[in-house]
Amino acid sequence: MIEIQNLTKRFGNKVALDNVSFTVNKGEILGFLGPNGAGKSTTMNIITGYISSTEGTVKIDGHDILLEPIEAKKKIGYLPEQPPLYMDMTVDEYLSFVYEIKGCKLDKASHLDEIKEVVKIKDVEKRKIKNLSKGYKQRVGLAQALIGNPDVLILDEPTVGLDPKQIIEMRNLIKELGKDRTVILSSHIMQEISAVCERVIIINKGKIVASDTPENLSRRFSETNSVIARIEGDSFQVLDTINNIPEVTSAKIYSKKDDGVCDYLIESNTDIRRALFFEMAKINCPIIMLRSNELSLEEIFLTVTNDNAAAEQAQNPEGQAEGQAEELSGELEEGQKEQVNPGLSNNEKGEDNDESGI
Ligand code: ADP
Ligand code: MG
Repeated sequence: MIEIQNLTKRFGNKVALDNVSFTVNKGEILGFLGPNGAGKSTTMNIITGYISSTEGTVKIDGHDILLEPIEAKKKIGYLPEQPPLYMDMTVDEYLSFVYEIKGCKLDKASHLDEIKEVVKIKDVEKRKIKNLSKGYKQRVGLAQALIGNPDVLILDEPTVGLDPKQIIEMRNLIKELGKDRTVILSSHIMQEISAVCERVIIINKGKIVASDTPENLSRRFSETNSVIARIEGDSFQVLDTINNIPEVTSAKIYSKKDDGVCDYLIESNTDIRRALFFEMAKINCPIIMLRSNELSLEEIFLTVTNDNAAAEQAQNPEGQAEGQAEELSGELEEGQKEQVNPGLSNNEKGEDNDESGI
């Protein structure tokens, strides 16, 4: 449905996109994941014909976006990073305006009504857009993308600035819309992509660094038969005992925790969890936690985008920066963190999250 070949975009000397190629199949929901500045919006702006590429081609259902722009654009609904809303219009005025400029041929009243139902903005249809909360504004932006019933939806960070409840609503809405449409959804939040998308492309510094299903990515990057064990007791004795288990090929301290507690990274030929349990019981050193060293999607994201030294640390837990490794493992164990890279979410704070006043 979407065919992107060798896209390169230069802004002056700056290479924002470097020879990016990928395809999206009909009916697929593709997640486009990358840190800020990776080139997500640039790619989306080129796919939708909003800006041109320096090199490369984009085809939407066989129509080249530059050679047959009308045919191609008819198939696309685009929600840019900043929704193109007119603040002084009411929701109805705005949707009617978009309907007209798109030259939509569907029955106006019923089409717009249906869209308002789907994105749940019926209750604010008479209100001026400037008086709506961020969540509602975003839904109005999505509504304009849906006008004309496009086969393809391009959504650029549609959940940025929404509160947690709105984020869940928006994700569910996107999943629903994706049932009979082809969707590209960009985000810098790994969890969002894995919650909604069937396939994920990770982009960093203008290049694709990974492309697979979320499950395959986890599997591909995971180390088999490698476990992390948190064990209380003298670390020399613990390491010595672990190293004496015949199947163990290597064992080292992953990070130091509280007094007398360490996390150990243990590699082995077979599953050594049971043997480890009995050996530690023998020396009276309790195992407080035991998990396989499968990388979380967040860790994969950090690893492939190589943005955070701590990510490397998670992969190669040896070396000097032990404090960093500790920090990272602590952080990741807290679990379902939405924003992995603290530098990525600056603009999320202080946004209008006031749903009460719709
Ligand atoms: P993302 O959406 O992934 O955060 P963008 O596609 O917005 O990233 O930007 C990719 C890179 O291109 C960034 O380094 C950004 O500064 C640069 N860039 C984007 N638009 C322009 C522009 N109009 N002029 C110059 N540089 C730009
Ligand atoms: Mg962007």
